[in-house]
Amino acid sequence: MENFNFYNPVKILFGKGQIANIASEIPANAKILITYGGGSIKKNGVYEQVIAALAGKTFLEFGGIEANPHLETLLKAVELIRKEGIDFILAVGGGSVVDGTKFIAAAVPFEGDPWNILAQQVPVKAAIPFGAVLTLPATGSEMNTNAVVTKAATQEKLYFSSPLVFPKFSVLDPETTFSLPPRQVSNGIVDAYTHVMEQYLTYPVNAPLQDRMAESILLTLIEEGPKTLANLNDYQARANVMWCATMALNGLIGVGVPQDWATHMIGHELTALHGIDHAQTLAIVLPNMLTIQRDRKREKLLQYAERVWNLVDGDADLRIERAIAKTREFFEAVGVRTKLSDYGVGLDTIAPIIDRFEKRGFTALGEHRDVTPKVVEQVLTLCA
Ligand code: NAP
Ligand code: FE
Repeated sequence: MENFNFYNPVKILFGKGQIANIASEIPANAKILITYGGGSIKKNGVYEQVIAALAGKTFLEFGGIEANPHLETLLKAVELIRKEGIDFILAVGGGSVVDGTKFIAAAVPFEGDPWNILAQQVPVKAAIPFGAVLTLPATGSEMNTNAVVTKAATQEKLYFSSPLVFPKFSVLDPETTFSLPPRQVSNGIVDAYTHVMEQYLTYPVNAPLQDRMAESILLTLIEEGPKTLANLNDYQARANVMWCATMALNGLIGVGVPQDWATHMIGHELTALHGIDHAQTLAIVLPNMLTIQRDRKREKLLQYAERVWNLVDGDADLRIERAIAKTREFFEAVGVRTKLSDYGVGLDTIAPIIDRFEKRGFTALGEHRDVTPKVVEQVLTLCA
């Protein structure tokens, strides 16, 4: 196992009715800004629950944060916060609202152009405290330090990470997810699954606990994910998928092990250029990344084949192939298509993506830093 430091201070309020308990988690006398997305919270009763929970507190609202949140929109919230003297933010929505709120929180005290937090990776030195009410299990953003933001003007989708943007608390009430369109339920399952794979499917470093935690999240998603789609009001299935998504990317399974993330980096470009949903891009890229990197990932692919897909007999290469095919079939079975052509995108997307990676110096991705632009090209060619 590799050395690691682990720190995760996010308080989780999990379960039915937990929104009612947020007031005591927010500093008394705080002036609050509620941030939210395109309006789903005003249709599913979440907004009313939040307003009732904040009775007696002073708050303003900022809605309209897009899926794949735009820098341009978030900067308007920064302006509002500076003008109004807001001292606490409450993000209510999916990963985009939580990520967007992390950026807002870091941008308010930032000196200079906040875009540099993403473009130049300028370290964040301070951030406004915030909490989250999560309505879409997928990203793990409710319990991690990452945020992904898109500059619409240039179609650039970039991330930053800072321990200063851990939420102070996150509410995970599975009932808030009942109103999700099936497409977003499916996306959440695939995003969480891929988060686990990016931290698990690399090479062995004698970390059996991390491996088994990762495998248990994958197996739970395979069991519980389809139940959430078969019966949209299955509370227990929703609860289990929600907790899987949080555990997939709250740092725990990634300690002391190598991490990949090349699939996510390519996926971000597909979203930025073509507007394909985040999880859809992962469903396209991951199986092909595994295929191209199969020799480098051989030992873990065999372990994955056996422990997750119960493939124990026969030729090793065939087992690997079948495990990758099973992964793709699972994504398709939960309703996420896995080919670029399913989204109307052709091979002409490869050149601009390679160009962007070269310009940004993203020329050595993956756990071995050997996913060069040439390898990205091979992966994307298979994605067609
Ligand atoms: P999202 O973009 O937050 O939301 C997708 C859609 O679902 C929105 O249209 C939203 O509508 C709707 N929605 C959310 N909750 C709903 C509910 N309970 N009922 C009905 N509709 C609901 O989706 P996401 O997958 O959670 O977030 C994706 C973003 O997270 C991407 O930008 C991705 O790159 C990023 N990401 C971040 C991390 C991380 O570690 N921070 C990891 C992976 C991905 P409204 O806008 O109307 O609410
Ligand atoms: Fe993701």
